[in-house]
Amino acid sequence: MTQEVLATELLSMRKRAERTAQSIDQISHNLSAERQSLRQVVKEYGTKRVELLKQELQARGVTWCTYCSAVIPESDAELLLVEGREEYSHGYGNACYGFRGFSKLHRACPTCRERAADKHGQKGSYDSQAKDQSSFYAFRVEKRDDGYYARKFGNWVKLDDENCKLNEPSSQLVEKLAEGWNLPPRIEVESRWPSSEEKLIVHERVLAEAS
Ligand SMILES: [Zn+2]
Repeated sequence: MTQEVLATELLSMRKRAERTAQSIDQISHNLSAERQSLRQVVKEYGTKRVELLKQELQARGVTWCTYCSAVIPESDAELLLVEGREEYSHGYGNACYGFRGFSKLHRACPTCRERAADKHGQKGSYDSQAKDQSSFYAFRVEKRDDGYYARKFGNWVKLDDENCKLNEPSSQLVEKLAEGWNLPPRIEVESRWPSSEEKLIVHERVLAEAS
């Protein structure tokens, strides 16, 4: 008799364990779905926030210098292609160095333009070990229907679209302007490794007048 009671009890305990396990499965499934949707919404928020900032810039008739991040009237900005070779270090502990070419389109403020013009044509001293040297050139650029063209030594040369991204303000600039213009705060998901815990962080500005 006790054996039977025990057997019944065991059966019911097993059922309970199964239900609990199922419920855990369901919760962790929901949890990972919710985590994914949290990351998704935070990412979209970030994109739209930058979009809002760009609209604000436009509404104010200003843009930013892609060199120094200064905010300037649109009419003061001019396109500039900078090209040349630069020294760089690489390898373990940056122990090696060499030279590499660079080519980048900028939307420059008058100050940076002047600086670039002063530097135009400059060459570093010849490095006999690397058999190379640094150099710097700045060319004026025109935007046409089919892309950007640089005036190089008397010829208009079409630029590779890859080098012509001017539309993404640095995150530093975004934060600086967002603060000054009182745009919505930055939000992010912080996940602490190795635990998979995720925390939503809203970088709410502390207002000086708030008590
Ligand atoms: Zn500048």
